Amino acid sequence: MSELAETIFSKIIKRQIPADIVYEDDLALAFRDVSPQAPVHVLVIPKKPIPMISQAEADDQALLGHLLLVAKQVAKDLGLANGFRLAINNGVDGGQTVDHLHIHILGGRAMTWPPG
Ligand code: 5GP
Repeated sequence: MSELAETIFSKIIKRQIPADIVYEDDLALAFRDVSPQAPVHVLVIPKKPIPMISQAEADDQALLGHLLLVAKQVAKDLGLANGFRLAINNGVDGGQTVDHLHIHILGGRAMTWPPG
């Protein structure tokens, strides 16, 4: 992994900083957001350091599908039977603050629309 790709999430993957990990496999990790915006707020990330969805490539197709399947499984395992929201923020205007692709799982309350 290059120095440029090093983010706080890379450090969570390498267990250099702690996180409340709820799921892990060879390709993905899911952990609770440190600043939860809903009763359940989990981030699903690829272990591959893709900075943001706009930088994903055709080769990432299977990985991106895998992340969505992980997200729905984590939502199920965390009891979000009544529904949940998946969100991907991209870039400055998208509100992205960590340059390592992540899917937010938000649940445990009714979501509003549109998001802010
Ligand atoms: P973004 O705004 O980039 O879509 O989401 C980044 C998310 O990462 C934010 O919701 C923020 O609270 C979360 N976050 C930032 N640093 C850490 C950290 O060190 N640990 C955990 N668990 N979450 C973090």
